Amino acid sequence: MSTVASAPVATSAATEVPRIPHWIDGAEHPSSGARTAPVYNPATGAIAAGVTLADEEDVAAALASAERGFAVWSEYSIAKRQAVMFAFRELLNARKGELAQIITAEHGKVVSDAMGEIARGLEVVDLATGFPSLVKGAYSENASSGIDVYTLKQPLGVVGIISPFNFPAMVPLWFFSVAIAAGNAVVLKPSEKDPSAALWLAKLWQEAGLPDGVFTVLQGDKVAVDGLLTSPVVQSISFVGSTPIAQYIYETAARHGKRVQALGGAKNHMLVLPDADLDLVADSAVNAGYGAAGERCMAISVVLAVEPIADELVAKVRDRVARLRVGNGAGGAEGEPDMGPLITEVHRDKVAAYVDIAEADGASVVVDGRGFTVDGHEDGFFFGPTLLDHVPTTSRAYTEEIFGPVLSVVRVASFQEGVDLINSGAFGNGTAVFTNDGGAARRFQREVHVGMIGINVPIPVPVAYHSFGGWKASMFGDAKAYGVHGFDFFTREKAITARWIDPATRHQSDHGGIDL
Ligand code: NAD
Repeated sequence: MSTVASAPVATSAATEVPRIPHWIDGAEHPSSGARTAPVYNPATGAIAAGVTLADEEDVAAALASAERGFAVWSEYSIAKRQAVMFAFRELLNARKGELAQIITAEHGKVVSDAMGEIARGLEVVDLATGFPSLVKGAYSENASSGIDVYTLKQPLGVVGIISPFNFPAMVPLWFFSVAIAAGNAVVLKPSEKDPSAALWLAKLWQEAGLPDGVFTVLQGDKVAVDGLLTSPVVQSISFVGSTPIAQYIYETAARHGKRVQALGGAKNHMLVLPDADLDLVADSAVNAGYGAAGERCMAISVVLAVEPIADELVAKVRDRVARLRVGNGAGGAEGEPDMGPLITEVHRDKVAAYVDIAEADGASVVVDGRGFTVDGHEDGFFFGPTLLDHVPTTSRAYTEEIFGPVLSVVRVASFQEGVDLINSGAFGNGTAVFTNDGGAARRFQREVHVGMIGINVPIPVPVAYHSFGGWKASMFGDAKAYGVHGFDFFTREKAITARWIDPATRHQSDHGGIDL
Protein backbone atom coordinates (compact mmCIF):
# COMPACT_ATOMS: atom_id res chain seq x y z
CA MET A 1 0.00 0.00 0.00
CA SER A 2 1.26 3.51 -0.75
CA THR A 3 2.08 6.06 1.92
CA VAL A 4 -0.72 8.56 2.42
CA ALA A 5 0.41 12.10 3.24
CA SER A 6 -1.40 13.58 6.23
CA ALA A 7 -2.87 17.05 6.21
CA PRO A 8 -0.96 19.51 8.41
CA VAL A 9 -2.47 20.80 11.66
CA ALA A 10 -3.02 24.51 12.37
CA THR A 11 -1.82 25.54 15.87
CA SER A 12 -3.29 28.40 17.88
CA ALA A 13 -0.44 30.58 16.64
CA ALA A 14 -1.90 30.10 13.14
CA THR A 15 1.22 28.26 12.02
CA GLU A 16 1.00 24.84 10.48
CA VAL A 17 2.78 21.87 11.96
CA PRO A 18 3.00 18.31 10.62
CA ARG A 19 0.28 15.85 11.52
CA ILE A 20 1.43 12.50 12.93
CA PRO A 21 -0.63 9.65 11.43
CA HIS A 22 -1.47 6.07 12.36
CA TRP A 23 0.37 3.12 10.81
CA ILE A 24 -2.14 0.66 9.40
CA ASP A 25 -1.70 -2.02 6.73
CA GLY A 26 1.97 -1.22 6.30
CA ALA A 27 1.48 2.48 5.55
CA GLU A 28 0.86 5.85 7.14
CA HIS A 29 -2.84 6.25 7.57
CA PRO A 30 -4.58 9.58 8.22
CA SER A 31 -7.46 9.66 10.66
CA SER A 32 -10.99 9.57 9.33
CA GLY A 33 -11.88 12.22 11.93
CA ALA A 34 -10.50 15.68 12.62
CA ARG A 35 -9.39 15.30 16.26
CA THR A 36 -5.73 15.97 17.06
CA ALA A 37 -3.62 16.70 20.17
CA PRO A 38 -0.55 18.96 20.29
CA VAL A 39 2.89 17.35 20.53
CA TYR A 40 5.40 19.71 22.13
CA ASN A 41 9.11 20.06 22.11
CA PRO A 42 9.35 20.30 25.92
CA ALA A 43 12.72 22.08 25.78
CA THR A 44 11.30 25.03 23.82
CA GLY A 45 7.63 24.81 24.75
CA ALA A 46 6.72 25.03 21.05
CA ILE A 47 4.09 22.84 19.41
CA ALA A 48 6.09 20.65 17.03
CA ALA A 49 3.29 18.54 15.57
CA GLY A 50 -0.29 17.48 15.97
CA VAL A 51 -0.99 13.83 16.58
CA THR A 52 -4.02 12.19 15.04
CA LEU A 53 -6.54 10.95 17.60
CA ALA A 54 -8.32 7.82 16.41
CA ASP A 55 -12.06 7.62 16.14
CA GLU A 56 -14.03 4.37 16.04
CA GLU A 57 -13.56 3.97 12.28
CA ASP A 58 -9.77 4.08 12.70
CA VAL A 59 -9.94 1.47 15.46
CA ALA A 60 -11.97 -0.79 13.18
CA ALA A 61 -9.51 -0.32 10.30
CA ALA A 62 -6.55 -1.05 12.58
CA LEU A 63 -8.11 -4.22 13.97
CA ALA A 64 -9.22 -5.51 10.56
CA SER A 65 -5.67 -5.05 9.25
CA ALA A 66 -4.20 -6.73 12.34
CA GLU A 67 -6.48 -9.73 11.86
CA ARG A 68 -5.26 -10.08 8.28
CA GLY A 69 -1.68 -9.68 9.46
CA PHE A 70 -2.11 -12.40 12.04
CA ALA A 71 -3.49 -14.80 9.44
CA VAL A 72 -0.29 -14.35 7.40
CA TRP A 73 2.20 -14.26 10.30
CA SER A 74 0.82 -17.31 12.05
CA GLU A 75 1.63 -19.37 8.95
CA TYR A 76 5.30 -18.29 8.93
CA SER A 77 7.71 -21.05 9.94
CA ILE A 78 9.81 -20.52 13.04
CA ALA A 79 12.90 -20.11 10.84
CA LYS A 80 11.24 -17.40 8.72
CA ARG A 81 9.94 -15.58 11.79
CA GLN A 82 13.36 -15.72 13.35
CA ALA A 83 14.95 -14.18 10.23
CA VAL A 84 12.61 -11.18 10.58
CA MET A 85 13.43 -10.85 14.27
CA PHE A 86 17.18 -10.84 13.55
CA ALA A 87 16.76 -8.30 10.74
CA PHE A 88 14.78 -6.01 13.06
CA ARG A 89 17.44 -6.39 15.76
CA GLU A 90 20.25 -5.47 13.37
CA LEU A 91 18.39 -2.47 11.92
CA LEU A 92 17.50 -1.12 15.36
CA ASN A 93 21.04 -1.50 16.59
CA ALA A 94 22.46 0.21 13.50
CA ARG A 95 20.00 3.12 13.51
CA LYS A 96 19.28 3.66 17.21
CA GLY A 97 20.85 7.13 17.07
CA GLU A 98 17.97 8.33 14.86
CA LEU A 99 15.42 6.98 17.30
CA ALA A 100 17.18 8.64 20.25
CA GLN A 101 16.89 12.05 18.55
CA ILE A 102 13.15 11.50 18.04
CA ILE A 103 12.68 10.54 21.69
CA THR A 104 14.57 13.58 22.94
CA ALA A 105 12.69 15.96 20.66
CA GLU A 106 9.27 14.88 21.99
CA HIS A 107 10.04 13.65 25.51
CA GLY A 108 12.83 16.01 26.51
CA LYS A 109 15.24 13.51 28.12
CA VAL A 110 18.94 13.91 27.29
CA VAL A 111 20.13 11.99 24.22
CA SER A 112 22.42 9.64 26.19
CA ASP A 113 19.43 8.70 28.34
CA ALA A 114 17.32 8.09 25.22
CA MET A 115 20.13 5.80 24.00
CA GLY A 116 20.00 4.05 27.37
CA GLU A 117 16.26 3.46 27.02
CA ILE A 118 16.81 1.97 23.56
CA ALA A 119 19.62 -0.25 24.89
CA ARG A 120 17.26 -1.69 27.52
CA GLY A 121 14.63 -2.26 24.83
CA LEU A 122 17.18 -3.89 22.52
CA GLU A 123 17.99 -6.34 25.29
CA VAL A 124 14.43 -7.63 25.00
CA VAL A 125 14.72 -7.84 21.20
CA ASP A 126 17.89 -9.91 21.73
CA LEU A 127 15.94 -12.21 24.04
CA ALA A 128 13.06 -12.42 21.56
CA THR A 129 15.34 -13.50 18.70
CA GLY A 130 15.86 -16.70 20.71
CA PHE A 131 12.11 -17.33 20.91
CA PRO A 132 12.15 -20.90 19.51
CA SER A 133 13.47 -22.27 22.78
CA LEU A 134 10.93 -20.20 24.76
CA VAL A 135 7.79 -21.28 22.89
CA LYS A 136 8.57 -24.98 22.76
CA GLY A 137 6.02 -27.38 24.14
CA ALA A 138 6.74 -30.41 26.34
CA TYR A 139 6.23 -34.13 25.70
CA SER A 140 5.54 -36.96 28.15
CA GLU A 141 5.77 -40.36 26.52
CA ASN A 142 3.63 -43.20 27.91
CA ALA A 143 1.82 -41.12 30.51
CA SER A 144 -0.52 -44.07 30.66
CA SER A 145 -0.08 -47.31 28.75
CA GLY A 146 0.08 -46.37 25.05
CA ILE A 147 -0.83 -42.75 25.78
CA ASP A 148 1.37 -39.71 25.25
CA VAL A 149 0.68 -36.22 26.59
CA TYR A 150 2.18 -33.12 25.04
CA THR A 151 1.71 -29.37 24.93
CA LEU A 152 1.73 -26.74 22.19
CA LYS A 153 2.21 -23.02 22.78
CA GLN A 154 0.26 -21.01 20.25
CA PRO A 155 0.02 -17.25 19.74
CA LEU A 156 -3.05 -15.43 21.07
CA GLY A 157 -3.89 -13.57 17.84
CA VAL A 158 -4.29 -9.78 17.85
CA VAL A 159 -2.87 -8.22 21.03
CA GLY A 160 -3.09 -4.63 22.28
CA ILE A 161 -0.31 -2.58 23.89
CA ILE A 162 -0.96 0.79 25.53
CA SER A 163 2.16 2.68 26.56
CA PRO A 164 3.09 5.73 28.67
CA PHE A 165 4.93 8.89 27.66
CA ASN A 166 8.03 8.32 29.74
CA PHE A 167 9.55 5.44 27.71
CA PRO A 168 8.19 5.88 24.17
CA ALA A 169 10.54 3.18 22.79
CA MET A 170 11.56 0.91 25.67
CA VAL A 171 8.12 0.03 27.02
CA PRO A 172 6.67 -0.82 23.57
CA LEU A 173 9.85 -2.85 22.85
CA TRP A 174 9.37 -4.80 26.12
CA PHE A 175 6.04 -6.07 24.89
CA PHE A 176 5.93 -6.11 21.11
CA SER A 177 9.28 -7.87 20.66
CA VAL A 178 8.00 -10.84 22.63
CA ALA A 179 4.46 -10.69 21.23
CA ILE A 180 5.60 -10.63 17.60
CA ALA A 181 8.27 -13.30 18.11
CA ALA A 182 5.61 -15.51 19.67
CA GLY A 183 3.53 -15.16 16.49
CA ASN A 184 0.96 -12.49 17.42
CA ALA A 185 -0.14 -9.35 15.58
CA VAL A 186 0.28 -6.18 17.65
CA VAL A 187 -1.77 -3.00 17.81
CA LEU A 188 0.24 -0.40 19.74
CA LYS A 189 -1.47 2.69 21.16
CA PRO A 190 1.46 4.93 22.17
CA SER A 191 1.22 7.95 24.43
CA GLU A 192 -0.23 10.90 22.54
CA LYS A 193 2.45 13.08 24.15
CA ASP A 194 5.36 11.48 22.22
CA PRO A 195 3.90 9.39 19.39
CA SER A 196 6.68 9.53 16.76
CA ALA A 197 8.94 6.80 18.14
CA ALA A 198 6.22 4.20 17.55
CA LEU A 199 5.82 5.29 13.95
CA TRP A 200 9.58 5.09 13.35
CA LEU A 201 9.62 1.57 14.83
CA ALA A 202 6.74 0.56 12.54
CA LYS A 203 8.74 1.59 9.49
CA LEU A 204 11.73 -0.36 10.79
CA TRP A 205 9.62 -3.51 11.13
CA GLN A 206 8.56 -3.14 7.53
CA GLU A 207 12.19 -2.81 6.46
CA ALA A 208 12.97 -5.94 8.44
CA GLY A 209 10.43 -7.86 6.38
CA LEU A 210 7.49 -8.09 8.79
CA PRO A 211 4.28 -8.64 6.80
CA ASP A 212 1.85 -5.69 6.70
CA GLY A 213 -0.71 -5.74 9.48
CA VAL A 214 1.47 -7.55 12.02
CA PHE A 215 2.53 -4.26 13.62
CA THR A 216 -0.02 -1.46 13.74
CA VAL A 217 0.21 1.93 15.43
CA LEU A 218 -3.08 3.41 16.49
CA GLN A 219 -2.59 6.99 17.64
CA GLY A 220 -5.07 8.39 20.08
CA ASP A 221 -6.58 8.85 23.49
CA LYS A 222 -9.37 7.19 25.47
CA VAL A 223 -11.41 6.51 22.34
CA ALA A 224 -8.62 4.36 20.89
CA VAL A 225 -7.94 2.69 24.24
CA ASP A 226 -11.59 1.87 24.88
CA GLY A 227 -11.85 0.51 21.34
CA LEU A 228 -9.06 -1.96 22.11
CA LEU A 229 -10.40 -2.84 25.57
CA THR A 230 -13.86 -3.73 24.33
CA SER A 231 -13.23 -5.31 20.91
CA PRO A 232 -13.65 -9.07 20.73
CA VAL A 233 -10.80 -9.13 18.18
CA VAL A 234 -8.23 -8.12 20.81
CA GLN A 235 -7.08 -11.11 22.87
CA SER A 236 -4.88 -9.42 25.46
CA ILE A 237 -3.90 -6.01 26.79
CA SER A 238 -0.46 -4.98 27.99
CA PHE A 239 -0.57 -1.59 29.69
CA VAL A 240 1.95 0.66 31.40
CA GLY A 241 0.98 4.02 32.90
CA SER A 242 -0.43 5.62 36.03
CA THR A 243 -2.17 3.55 38.69
CA PRO A 244 -5.75 4.86 38.27
CA ILE A 245 -5.64 4.17 34.52
CA ALA A 246 -3.92 0.79 35.06
CA GLN A 247 -6.76 -0.23 37.36
CA TYR A 248 -9.36 0.95 34.85
CA ILE A 249 -7.61 -0.99 32.07
CA TYR A 250 -7.35 -4.13 34.18
CA GLU A 251 -11.00 -4.10 35.18
CA THR A 252 -12.41 -3.15 31.78
CA ALA A 253 -10.28 -5.53 29.72
CA ALA A 254 -10.92 -8.41 32.16
CA ARG A 255 -14.66 -7.73 31.97
CA HIS A 256 -14.33 -8.14 28.22
CA GLY A 257 -12.66 -11.52 28.60
CA LYS A 258 -9.08 -10.52 27.90
CA ARG A 259 -5.77 -11.46 29.41
CA VAL A 260 -4.36 -8.33 31.07
CA GLN A 261 -1.05 -7.13 32.45
CA ALA A 262 -1.39 -3.54 33.70
CA LEU A 263 1.65 -1.88 35.24
CA GLY A 264 1.01 1.27 37.28
CA GLY A 265 2.76 4.05 39.18
CA ALA A 266 5.44 3.94 41.84
CA LYS A 267 7.01 5.59 44.86
CA ASN A 268 10.40 3.97 45.23
CA HIS A 269 12.37 4.16 48.47
CA MET A 270 16.08 3.79 49.06
CA LEU A 271 16.88 2.61 52.60
CA VAL A 272 20.32 3.76 53.70
CA LEU A 273 21.84 1.96 56.68
CA PRO A 274 24.47 3.73 58.79
CA ASP A 275 27.27 1.43 57.57
CA ALA A 276 26.74 2.29 53.87
CA ASP A 277 29.33 4.07 51.74
CA LEU A 278 27.73 7.55 51.76
CA ASP A 279 29.52 8.78 48.63
CA LEU A 280 28.17 5.81 46.66
CA VAL A 281 24.75 6.46 48.21
CA ALA A 282 24.78 10.15 47.29
CA ASP A 283 25.90 9.44 43.70
CA SER A 284 23.23 6.75 43.36
CA ALA A 285 20.47 8.89 44.87
CA VAL A 286 21.27 11.76 42.50
CA ASN A 287 21.38 9.52 39.42
CA ALA A 288 18.23 7.64 40.36
CA GLY A 289 16.34 10.68 41.63
CA TYR A 290 17.07 13.22 38.92
CA GLY A 291 17.88 11.14 35.81
CA ALA A 292 15.25 11.70 33.10
CA ALA A 293 14.02 14.54 35.37
CA GLY A 294 12.54 11.91 37.70
CA GLU A 295 10.09 10.75 35.03
CA ARG A 296 10.93 7.08 35.49
CA CYS A 297 8.75 4.49 37.17
CA MET A 298 11.92 3.10 38.78
CA ALA A 299 13.22 6.53 39.89
CA ILE A 300 14.12 6.81 43.55
CA SER A 301 11.84 9.42 45.07
CA VAL A 302 12.39 8.83 48.79
CA VAL A 303 15.65 8.35 50.69
CA LEU A 304 15.07 6.75 54.08
CA ALA A 305 18.15 7.67 56.10
CA VAL A 306 18.70 5.54 59.20
CA GLU A 307 20.15 7.88 61.83
CA PRO A 308 22.73 9.11 62.66
CA ILE A 309 23.79 9.61 59.02
CA ALA A 310 21.01 11.89 57.68
CA ASP A 311 22.78 15.27 58.11
CA GLU A 312 25.94 14.04 56.40
CA LEU A 313 23.99 12.38 53.57
CA VAL A 314 21.78 15.41 52.92
CA ALA A 315 24.91 17.60 52.67
CA LYS A 316 26.50 15.20 50.16
CA VAL A 317 23.35 15.06 48.01
CA ARG A 318 22.91 18.84 48.16
CA ASP A 319 26.49 19.39 46.93
CA ARG A 320 25.94 17.05 43.99
CA VAL A 321 22.56 18.57 43.10
CA ALA A 322 24.21 22.00 42.97
CA ARG A 323 26.49 20.70 40.21
CA LEU A 324 23.68 19.26 38.02
CA ARG A 325 23.32 20.97 34.66
CA VAL A 326 19.78 21.38 33.37
CA GLY A 327 19.04 22.23 29.74
CA ASN A 328 17.89 21.13 26.31
CA GLY A 329 18.26 17.33 26.22
CA ALA A 330 19.42 17.59 22.59
CA GLY A 331 22.56 19.34 23.86
CA GLY A 332 24.06 22.63 22.79
CA ALA A 333 27.29 24.59 22.77
CA GLU A 334 28.15 23.36 26.28
CA GLY A 335 27.46 19.73 25.45
CA GLU A 336 24.80 17.52 26.91
CA PRO A 337 23.23 18.58 30.21
CA ASP A 338 22.49 16.12 33.05
CA MET A 339 18.76 16.65 32.95
CA GLY A 340 16.17 17.95 30.50
CA PRO A 341 12.68 19.44 30.93
CA LEU A 342 9.44 17.81 32.07
CA ILE A 343 6.93 16.55 29.51
CA THR A 344 4.34 19.37 29.65
CA GLU A 345 3.64 22.66 31.35
CA VAL A 346 0.67 21.08 33.16
CA HIS A 347 2.90 18.35 34.56
CA ARG A 348 5.53 20.87 35.62
CA ASP A 349 2.90 22.82 37.55
CA LYS A 350 1.71 19.60 39.20
CA VAL A 351 5.25 18.82 40.36
CA ALA A 352 5.58 22.38 41.71
CA ALA A 353 2.29 21.96 43.58
CA TYR A 354 3.68 18.89 45.37
CA VAL A 355 6.67 20.93 46.56
CA ASP A 356 4.22 23.57 47.85
CA ILE A 357 2.32 20.83 49.70
CA ALA A 358 5.49 19.38 51.25
CA GLU A 359 6.57 22.83 52.43
CA ALA A 360 3.12 23.62 53.86
CA ASP A 361 3.19 20.27 55.66
CA GLY A 362 6.48 21.11 57.36
CA ALA A 363 9.22 19.74 55.07
CA SER A 364 12.36 21.82 54.63
CA VAL A 365 13.18 22.75 51.04
CA VAL A 366 16.96 22.26 50.87
CA VAL A 367 17.19 22.88 47.10
CA ASP A 368 14.21 24.56 45.42
CA GLY A 369 13.55 23.92 41.73
CA ARG A 370 10.38 26.01 41.51
CA GLY A 371 10.49 28.89 39.05
CA PHE A 372 13.60 27.48 37.36
CA THR A 373 14.38 28.69 33.83
CA VAL A 374 17.05 27.91 31.25
CA ASP A 375 18.61 30.82 29.35
CA GLY A 376 17.42 30.86 25.75
CA HIS A 377 14.68 28.32 26.59
CA GLU A 378 12.42 30.46 28.75
CA ASP A 379 9.25 28.78 27.44
CA GLY A 380 10.57 25.23 27.99
CA PHE A 381 8.95 23.06 30.66
CA PHE A 382 11.92 23.06 33.00
CA PHE A 383 11.84 22.34 36.71
CA GLY A 384 15.02 22.49 38.74
CA PRO A 385 16.26 19.55 40.80
CA THR A 386 14.64 19.77 44.21
CA LEU A 387 15.73 18.28 47.54
CA LEU A 388 13.30 18.05 50.45
CA ASP A 389 14.29 17.05 53.98
CA HIS A 390 12.22 16.11 57.05
CA VAL A 391 9.26 15.22 54.82
CA PRO A 392 6.34 14.16 57.03
CA THR A 393 5.07 10.72 56.05
CA THR A 394 1.52 12.01 56.34
CA SER A 395 2.10 14.56 53.57
CA ARG A 396 0.64 13.88 50.12
CA ALA A 397 4.12 14.77 48.84
CA TYR A 398 5.27 11.57 50.57
CA THR A 399 2.34 9.25 49.91
CA GLU A 400 1.66 10.12 46.24
CA GLU A 401 3.77 9.73 43.12
CA ILE A 402 5.26 13.09 42.05
CA PHE A 403 7.03 11.93 38.86
CA GLY A 404 9.48 14.81 38.72
CA PRO A 405 13.00 15.76 39.87
CA VAL A 406 12.06 15.90 43.55
CA LEU A 407 13.96 13.78 46.07
CA SER A 408 12.49 13.54 49.56
CA VAL A 409 14.54 12.59 52.61
CA VAL A 410 12.76 10.93 55.53
CA ARG A 411 14.78 10.25 58.66
CA VAL A 412 14.14 6.97 60.47
CA ALA A 413 15.54 5.54 63.71
CA SER A 414 16.03 1.93 62.62
CA PHE A 415 16.13 -0.61 59.79
CA GLN A 416 12.74 -1.92 60.91
CA GLU A 417 11.12 1.53 60.87
CA GLY A 418 12.35 1.92 57.29
CA VAL A 419 11.02 -1.46 56.15
CA ASP A 420 7.69 -0.81 57.86
CA LEU A 421 7.37 2.54 56.06
CA ILE A 422 8.12 0.95 52.69
CA ASN A 423 5.55 -1.75 53.33
CA SER A 424 2.89 0.73 54.47
CA GLY A 425 2.83 2.52 51.08
CA ALA A 426 0.32 1.92 48.31
CA PHE A 427 2.95 1.07 45.69
CA GLY A 428 5.45 -1.79 45.38
CA ASN A 429 7.41 -1.25 42.17
CA GLY A 430 11.10 -0.93 43.11
CA THR A 431 13.22 -0.31 46.19
CA ALA A 432 16.87 -0.42 47.19
CA VAL A 433 18.94 -0.94 50.31
CA PHE A 434 22.42 0.49 50.71
CA THR A 435 24.57 -1.29 53.26
CA ASN A 436 27.74 -3.34 53.63
CA ASP A 437 25.98 -5.82 55.88
CA GLY A 438 24.92 -8.88 53.89
CA GLY A 439 22.66 -10.13 56.67
CA ALA A 440 20.74 -6.85 56.72
CA ALA A 441 20.41 -6.89 52.93
CA ARG A 442 19.15 -10.46 53.05
CA ARG A 443 16.53 -9.55 55.64
CA PHE A 444 15.50 -6.57 53.49
CA GLN A 445 15.00 -8.66 50.35
CA ARG A 446 12.95 -11.13 52.38
CA GLU A 447 10.70 -8.66 54.17
CA VAL A 448 9.87 -5.84 51.74
CA HIS A 449 6.60 -6.07 49.80
CA VAL A 450 8.08 -4.83 46.54
CA GLY A 451 8.55 -6.52 43.17
CA MET A 452 12.06 -5.37 42.23
CA ILE A 453 14.86 -4.88 44.76
CA GLY A 454 18.32 -3.38 44.48
CA ILE A 455 21.16 -4.16 46.88
CA ASN A 456 23.58 -1.26 46.54
CA VAL A 457 21.93 -0.79 43.10
CA PRO A 458 19.53 2.15 42.90
CA ILE A 459 17.46 1.27 39.78
CA PRO A 460 17.07 -2.51 39.79
CA VAL A 461 15.37 -2.99 36.40
CA PRO A 462 15.78 -6.74 35.77
CA VAL A 463 17.66 -7.87 32.65
CA ALA A 464 15.57 -9.17 29.74
CA TYR A 465 15.83 -12.87 30.67
CA HIS A 466 14.25 -12.16 34.06
CA SER A 467 10.94 -10.29 34.14
CA PHE A 468 9.78 -6.78 35.09
CA GLY A 469 6.88 -6.07 37.38
CA GLY A 470 5.91 -4.55 40.71
CA TRP A 471 3.52 -5.46 43.50
CA LYS A 472 0.41 -3.82 45.00
CA ALA A 473 -0.79 -0.68 43.15
CA SER A 474 2.23 -0.89 40.81
CA MET A 475 0.86 -3.87 38.89
CA PHE A 476 -2.54 -5.39 38.24
CA GLY A 477 -2.49 -8.92 36.87
CA ASP A 478 0.04 -11.66 37.47
CA ALA A 479 2.11 -11.78 34.27
CA LYS A 480 5.13 -9.51 34.38
CA ALA A 481 6.72 -7.92 31.31
CA TYR A 482 9.30 -9.81 29.18
CA GLY A 483 11.39 -12.86 30.15
CA VAL A 484 9.59 -16.16 30.62
CA HIS A 485 6.52 -14.32 31.98
CA GLY A 486 6.32 -12.38 28.71
CA PHE A 487 6.34 -15.51 26.56
CA ASP A 488 3.76 -17.16 28.81
CA PHE A 489 1.55 -14.09 28.53
CA PHE A 490 1.69 -13.96 24.73
CA THR A 491 1.07 -17.66 24.15
CA ARG A 492 -1.80 -19.99 24.93
CA GLU A 493 -1.05 -23.57 25.81
CA LYS A 494 -2.86 -26.64 24.52
CA ALA A 495 -2.40 -30.02 26.21
CA ILE A 496 -2.95 -33.02 23.98
CA THR A 497 -3.54 -36.55 25.21
CA ALA A 498 -3.01 -39.02 22.34
CA ARG A 499 -3.43 -42.73 21.95
CA TRP A 500 -2.11 -44.40 18.79
CA ILE A 501 -2.68 -48.13 18.60
CA ASP A 502 0.42 -50.18 17.89
CA PRO A 503 -0.12 -51.85 14.45
CA ALA A 504 0.95 -55.21 15.89
CA THR A 505 -1.97 -55.22 18.30
CA ARG A 506 -4.59 -53.82 15.93
CA HIS A 507 -7.71 -55.83 15.20
CA GLN A 508 -7.68 -57.81 11.91
CA SER A 509 -10.58 -55.84 10.44
CA ASP A 510 -8.64 -52.52 10.64
CA HIS A 511 -7.91 -50.97 7.30
CA GLY A 512 -4.46 -49.98 6.17
CA GLY A 513 -2.58 -51.88 8.87
CA ILE A 514 1.19 -51.84 8.54
CA ASP A 515 3.13 -55.03 8.91
CA LEU A 516 5.98 -54.20 11.32
P1 NAD B 1 -1.07 7.69 31.84
O1 NAD B 1 -1.73 6.70 32.72
O2 NAD B 1 -1.56 9.09 31.86
O3 NAD B 1 -1.14 7.21 30.31
C1 NAD B 1 -0.74 5.94 29.90
C2 NAD B 1 -1.52 5.54 28.65
O4 NAD B 1 -2.91 5.49 28.98
C3 NAD B 1 -1.37 6.53 27.50
O5 NAD B 1 -1.25 5.80 26.30
C4 NAD B 1 -2.67 7.33 27.55
O6 NAD B 1 -3.07 7.78 26.29
C5 NAD B 1 -3.66 6.33 28.12
N1 NAD B 1 -4.72 6.97 28.90
C6 NAD B 1 -4.60 8.08 29.68
N2 NAD B 1 -5.78 8.36 30.25
C7 NAD B 1 -6.66 7.43 29.86
C8 NAD B 1 -8.05 7.18 30.12
N3 NAD B 1 -8.74 7.98 30.93
N4 NAD B 1 -8.63 6.13 29.54
C9 NAD B 1 -7.94 5.31 28.72
N5 NAD B 1 -6.63 5.50 28.43
C10 NAD B 1 -5.99 6.54 28.99
O7 NAD B 1 0.50 7.63 32.19
P2 NAD B 1 1.65 8.58 31.64
O8 NAD B 1 1.51 9.92 32.28
O9 NAD B 1 1.76 8.48 30.18
O10 NAD B 1 2.93 7.82 32.24
C11 NAD B 1 3.44 8.06 33.52
C12 NAD B 1 2.96 7.02 34.51
O11 NAD B 1 3.33 5.72 34.06
C13 NAD B 1 3.58 7.16 35.88
O12 NAD B 1 2.59 6.93 36.85
C14 NAD B 1 4.64 6.07 35.91
O13 NAD B 1 4.98 5.59 37.20
C15 NAD B 1 3.96 5.01 35.13
N6 NAD B 1 4.92 4.06 34.59
C16 NAD B 1 4.98 2.83 35.18
C17 NAD B 1 5.89 1.91 34.72
C18 NAD B 1 5.97 0.56 35.34
O14 NAD B 1 6.71 -0.25 34.81
N7 NAD B 1 5.25 0.25 36.40
C19 NAD B 1 6.76 2.24 33.66
C20 NAD B 1 6.66 3.49 33.08
C21 NAD B 1 5.73 4.39 33.56
